[in-house]
Amino acid sequence: MGLCDIQDIKEILGRHGFRFSKALGQNFLTEAWVPARIAAECGAGEDDCVVEVGPGMGCLTVELSQRAAQVAAIELDRALFPVLDETLAGCGNVEVIQGDVLKTDLAALCREKFPGKTVYACANLPYYITSPAISALLDSGAFAGVTVMVQKEVAERICAPAGSSDYSAFSIYVQYHADAHILFDVPRDCFMPQPKVDSAVIRLTPREKPPVEVEDERLFFAIVRAAFNQRRKTLVNAIGTAFGGRFDKAQLTELVTFCELDERVRGERLSLADYARLTNAACTLMRTRGYL
Ligand code: SAM
Repeated sequence: MGLCDIQDIKEILGRHGFRFSKALGQNFLTEAWVPARIAAECGAGEDDCVVEVGPGMGCLTVELSQRAAQVAAIELDRALFPVLDETLAGCGNVEVIQGDVLKTDLAALCREKFPGKTVYACANLPYYITSPAISALLDSGAFAGVTVMVQKEVAERICAPAGSSDYSAFSIYVQYHADAHILFDVPRDCFMPQPKVDSAVIRLTPREKPPVEVEDERLFFAIVRAAFNQRRKTLVNAIGTAFGGRFDKAQLTELVTFCELDERVRGERLSLADYARLTNAACTLMRTRGYL
């Protein structure tokens, strides 16, 4: 039985009366090299444990179970459980957990299932929850590495450098929390049903501490969001909302130029270090005004 063989996939799923759900982002891999390579590059060694999101039929789960000490696979769709009972029958170190990854306390799960172990996260993510799932995996603080397949354009956005057209608020969020890079591309014809876009596997390595020092993280991300919400506007015109309208345009211009930035610059040109400088200068100004 090949978990990536189209005939075998059809046979097993047909026998269990399973139908693919577009709403659940169910595009299963049909090329065995892909799950093998994801598992090989996810960083987990034989003493480590893995949390997988969305095992589907289990093609990646089997690969992970052969490389890691234990695997916990979170699957939302109950219809896949009888299928997984069959396909994972030979994998004694795998536990399939029914649930929604976005509603799961991932840190608690790792503590409970894998106490004292180094844990990695791995997934062929359902497209419809790419950003919240990545945020949940990073915010949990539970993983030594997060290796996930996402749409290629999302992968490029996440890893984009400052100033590029793909650079976004989400690039900054991810790069603040993790070192991010693309491992390899996966063409659309490696899936069933075939999606309309290509994919890429990215590796996020959570940082021990952020790459820039920020006095107030909430304000930092509020400024970033405000800047990218209106990315066609200059930074000065875009960021006022982040300060609850407390600063007028002249004051914002002064703040921006104080940070050695051009007053006509757009937010998409700023590096993480620029945003950190701006946040810290704003904190100082707000403190002198008694706002903080
Ligand atoms: N790992 C399999 C593979 O590579 O062939 C399946 C990947 S498929 C893109 C995504 C999987 O995530 C599906 O099995 C789907 O049912 C599951 N899923 C969708 N939403 C989920 C959620 N919120 N939490 C956990 N699993 C979810």
